[in-house]
Amino acid sequence: MDSASQTPPSEPAPRPQTRRKSKSPRILQSALGAAILVATLFIAFAPNTLSGNLNDQLVALLTTQPDAVAVLPGTPRPQIKIGIVAGHWGNDSGAVCDNGTTEQEVNLKIATLVQQKLGALGFDPILLKEFDTRLSGFRAAVLVSIHNDSCKFVNDQATGFKVAAAMSSRDTNLANRLAGCLRNRYQQITKMSPHNSVTNDMTLYHAFSEIDPNTTAAIIETGFLKLDYEILTNNTELVATGVTNGIVCFINNENLEPTPTP
Ligand SMILES: [Zn+2]
Repeated sequence: MDSASQTPPSEPAPRPQTRRKSKSPRILQSALGAAILVATLFIAFAPNTLSGNLNDQLVALLTTQPDAVAVLPGTPRPQIKIGIVAGHWGNDSGAVCDNGTTEQEVNLKIATLVQQKLGALGFDPILLKEFDTRLSGFRAAVLVSIHNDSCKFVNDQATGFKVAAAMSSRDTNLANRLAGCLRNRYQQITKMSPHNSVTNDMTLYHAFSEIDPNTTAAIIETGFLKLDYEILTNNTELVATGVTNGIVCFINNENLEPTPTP
């Protein structure tokens, strides 16, 4: 920051016939100075909830790439890291259906598709196990854990999805915003309804207290294995797109207002 406010290099003595032209570089110089100052201030005042990684990424984004460094078309530049936990993976089966389908395998299938979709969009998604050692102090723009609910028939209302924000996040507004994005986009894509029972299992989810508090996190139960079995197992692409769009909505700070139908 200090380097921008230091004395500018002295201008070369203009030749008399180009005296008038010499004003424009001076204007350019001060415009550039202002741009650098704005960029510096932006970095300086970026919310401290951004992880160090994110700050580095911002700096990289704001830094002009030297022409000498050839960037191949389609090469992703500073990537945004996103953690995806496949619920129960590497630990236990989770809910089990009569036909042998386990929650863990459904979660892993969804989480793997979410990882692929985010990767295709140029993000840096990391697939994590339920008790992955990397969860300790995990720093990323987002962490989302994917689970599913019971495969036992409870009642006719045991259908739909649930989302809970990590209350251990340093900025709970951001966590609530992530949860809002997930709810909105997941419902929009899958046409499923939210189930209005969010348990302590969700809000006090173990990984929330393990990750870096600057990592914005949420957990989604994408459905009930019993009554939502069809969409969860046979339309997993759609389910994964709903989760992916929710994450992208948060990262891109997209509007959550319902879009009017044409
Ligand atoms: Zn579970």
